[in-house]
Amino acid sequence: MTLVVKDLVRQYAGNPRPTLDGMSFDLPAGTLTALLGRSGAGKSTMLRCVMGLESFETGTIDVDGVIVRGTKESAPAERKKAIAESRLRLGLVFQSFELFPHLTALENCVLAPMTAKKETRSVAEKRARELLCQLGLEPRLDAFPEQLSGGQKQRVAIARALAMEPRVLLYDEPTSALDPSMKNEVLQSLKRIDATGVTQVVVTHDLQLARGVEHVCILDHGVVIESGPPDTVLKSPVHESTRTLLASWLEHE
Ligand code: ADP
Repeated sequence: MTLVVKDLVRQYAGNPRPTLDGMSFDLPAGTLTALLGRSGAGKSTMLRCVMGLESFETGTIDVDGVIVRGTKESAPAERKKAIAESRLRLGLVFQSFELFPHLTALENCVLAPMTAKKETRSVAEKRARELLCQLGLEPRLDAFPEQLSGGQKQRVAIARALAMEPRVLLYDEPTSALDPSMKNEVLQSLKRIDATGVTQVVVTHDLQLARGVEHVCILDHGVVIESGPPDTVLKSPVHESTRTLLASWLEHE
């Protein structure tokens, strides 16, 4: 398993119930999973906890063997060290791309490996070129973000995250700023990456995207209420909350 979340509890001060209420799931290496759920289900909190941007009280997050424990179950120094180590194995792609506007597609992908990993330019550039080409951006290597379409920008953002060689790549609503034709570009990119063995976790409201992944987890009230292949979960949901969620999404399709 590359990402194992076990019994995670996160309760914000002043909230009557925990936002994450014993959340558990485990994702085998190299799988492409979508986390789905109504607004307020706890998806963003989950993502922030995995990234170490948010603390949680109890439970564990295991990223490729590095275990982060809750604030009630570990000392601050131990947690800080584990979060730093787990971050080396993680990447995050944002809904709004967050590319550096003054750098070309290639330079966006070269910068972090050279600064954070101290790679030489030739090593960083070789990998960046390979990744951008793999995601169909060979003709756009020297383009600046403002010259790219939304789908192209998101593919550069994905290549930039992959350039740091993460074991687990998280996506926060990667297609929500894109129109339908570009959503498919992004889904095809995720599928291409799937073949490389990186574990991918996509938080999304996009049914088209969810239908194209290997595994879906439905979140509700801070727990996973059902999970499995999209063909099963999205076509024959067991849980009433899943049926309500899918009905509301289908209405907007
Ligand atoms: P989702 O991403 O599924 O829409 P979130 O993880 O953003 O859900 O939020 C779930 C719930 O957690 C929210 O409805 C809110 O009650 C609570 N919450 C999230 N962030 C905070 C915060 N910073 N402070 C207090 N409560 C929060």
